[in-house]
Amino acid sequence: MSIAWTAELRRACRGRLLLEEPLAPYTTYRIGGPADAMLTPDGPGDIQRAVEIVGRHGVPWLVLGLGSNMLVADAGFRGLVIHVGKGLAEVTEGANSWTVGAGLPTPLLARRSARRGLGGVHRLVGVPGTVGGGVYMNAGAHGQEFRQVVQSVTLVNASGEVEQRRAGDIPWRYRASGLGEVVVIEAELRFTPGDPQSLEEEIADHLRWRKAGTPFSEACCGSVFRNPASPVTLPSEGSGAESRELRTAGQLIDAVGLKGLRIGGAEVSPMHANYIVNLGGASASDVMGIIDAVREQARREFGVALELEVQLVGNP
Ligand SMILES: Cc1cc2nc3c(=O)[nH]c(=O)nc-3n(C[C@H](O)[C@H](O)[C@H](O)COP(=O)(O)OP(=O)(O)OC[C@H]3O[C@@H](n4cnc5c(N)ncnc54)[C@H](O)[C@@H]3O)c2cc1C
Repeated sequence: MSIAWTAELRRACRGRLLLEEPLAPYTTYRIGGPADAMLTPDGPGDIQRAVEIVGRHGVPWLVLGLGSNMLVADAGFRGLVIHVGKGLAEVTEGANSWTVGAGLPTPLLARRSARRGLGGVHRLVGVPGTVGGGVYMNAGAHGQEFRQVVQSVTLVNASGEVEQRRAGDIPWRYRASGLGEVVVIEAELRFTPGDPQSLEEEIADHLRWRKAGTPFSEACCGSVFRNPASPVTLPSEGSGAESRELRTAGQLIDAVGLKGLRIGGAEVSPMHANYIVNLGGASASDVMGIIDAVREQARREFGVALELEVQLVGNP
């Protein structure tokens, strides 16, 4: 690794810069080798300077929030990881519109807005990432997703400039914002007024549902695959039986009989088939082995090409 760019980063940025930093502890999968360098910026200025420096040196970079939607290669990531967290977690509360820093965890935002009697993101209480990661991924659950509340996004673009994009200019789609190579630094969100007590009751219901129906406390990245664009219809079995529609990736994986499949330390969760969990000591290649097996089986049995929702880092 050339040390010229890391030395320049150290001189230019006020945040913490770590070299050869293992990424596994920064991801909910607890998987992944080291990054050449990891910067925890202390504000947008650090991000601007860092993006400009690595851009000039031709060094790859990526943004890491709470690492809850990432599978990092066992060999790690060659380049700079910009770790967006506490230094960028400020909230400015207006009546119905708030400006929220990208580093704030989404579950905290869900609870805080519900307490103030504001609905719109309260059902995202079980999405364990940052607001920046949520906006970038257009995270969603139980009928709510970020694109429904985002008014504008402030970001650092690939040239290191701060830009504001209005929600209408963002090419949102299912579980993606299409923002490209940027660092989200804050977002303006508009909420819908509601009754704090009912919003908090909804939160409690959603958390109960998550704990009962997903391997919530295991090392994982949530859903590995996006749901297919159109449902697969299974013919009825026997006379009188109704045909069955498979709408979600989890239902498809269950139908091809791969629930419980294990490779090394990774397993298709017996609780929810679209979750591949790390039982302890799983490598990225164990998880990739399962991903390949699932895709192959879904293609062979149903002709469906399952797309990944999890973001692959460093070519696992
Ligand atoms: C148990 C569990 C349950 C989950 N349930 C859901 C669910 O119901 N719905 C759902 O949508 N997701 C779910 N997820 C996935 C994940 O929590 C979301 O995608 C989350 O929004 C990712 O945020 P993060 O900060 O962890 O992003 P990371 O995993 O750190 O990054 C994900 C992607 O976003 C980019 N990114 C992160 N922060 C920024 C930023 N500030 N600027 C630009 N790019 C950025 C990264 O480069 C990467 O490409 C779940 C995950 C787990 C572990």
